[in-house]
Amino acid sequence: MSETAQKVISGDIRAAARLISNIDNGLTGVRDILRELYPHTGNAYVIGITGAPGVGKSTLVDRLIENLRKRKKTVGVIAIDPTSPFSGGAILGDRIRMQRHSNDKEVFIRSLATRGHFGGLTLSTRGAIDVMDAMGKDYIIVETVGVGQDEVDIVKKAHTTVIVLTPGMGDDIQAIKAGILEAGDIFVINKADRAGVEKAMTDLMVMLDMGMNNGDDMKWHPPVIKTVAPEGKGIEEVITEIERHRSFIIQKRGNINPRRTESGAREELLEMIKGRIMEEVIGRLEKDDAFNVAVESIRSGEKDPYTASDEILSSHFL
Ligand code: GDP
Repeated sequence: MSETAQKVISGDIRAAARLISNIDNGLTGVRDILRELYPHTGNAYVIGITGAPGVGKSTLVDRLIENLRKRKKTVGVIAIDPTSPFSGGAILGDRIRMQRHSNDKEVFIRSLATRGHFGGLTLSTRGAIDVMDAMGKDYIIVETVGVGQDEVDIVKKAHTTVIVLTPGMGDDIQAIKAGILEAGDIFVINKADRAGVEKAMTDLMVMLDMGMNNGDDMKWHPPVIKTVAPEGKGIEEVITEIERHRSFIIQKRGNINPRRTESGAREELLEMIKGRIMEEVIGRLEKDDAFNVAVESIRSGEKDPYTASDEILSSHFL
């Protein structure tokens, strides 16, 4: 086994940090290390936390870490930075809030910033989760701003997905991508010290009721919890609901590892193959002369893109 893999398994923070940034930067060789780590994964419980910027996710995560540490659990946090030309990566500038845990060697916090390497953000998040899992973290919290499809896919991968909203959340729901509400296992209305909490609760419950498939006893009914994150109010209840959801999954599936289910294994394998096609094939194609010639032929009006793409595909792959 490689030295890096050995160090990660023994919980070495520096080796793990370096590996995660190599994954983030799409460096070659990380796949081999992840392969070595794989047999040591499958034990961590992954919690996805998502919500619009400013709803209080970081504050909430900070309190969740505190609560889990009191229970003697080890925690990894992966913060997905929505670096984009529009935000400039500034949205999550106050990760600082969680940094008070940085002296605790059982808490390991990392950000992932880049997209497009290692087959995309979903796969690099998967890789970072595996690293923390292999380190032996009991809980891994993945925090995202629920804006893009990538992020929806990421939180869907969590065992338990927590969606954070605030009073006056009509706006928040707009900001959260359609489709993400269905991914929520637990809803948190944070900033419950503000006006409009009760209305927010009722509105949300009505929406959730509409989405419920009545009569199915084995279906999870997402709870709605009020919190005031800076004061730690409601945090205990969030953890209780996460644990209740965990028991529900185990009861329904027999284990917590989605890779050991047919659908989980299928989905991940497909995702990984798609990622590698994007990374290796498309990456290579873009550097190919034939590709540039085709671009020029479309630009000059000589060809249509349907014909040009058919030609490239048939000359390279079919
Ligand atoms: P994030 O962008 O979702 O990570 O949100 P932050 O955790 O950075 O919080 C954004 C702002 O909201 C900060 O100024 C927090 O202090 C504040 N905040 C977080 N939770 C609450 C809350 O429950 N009540 C109030 N009044 N403010 C809060």
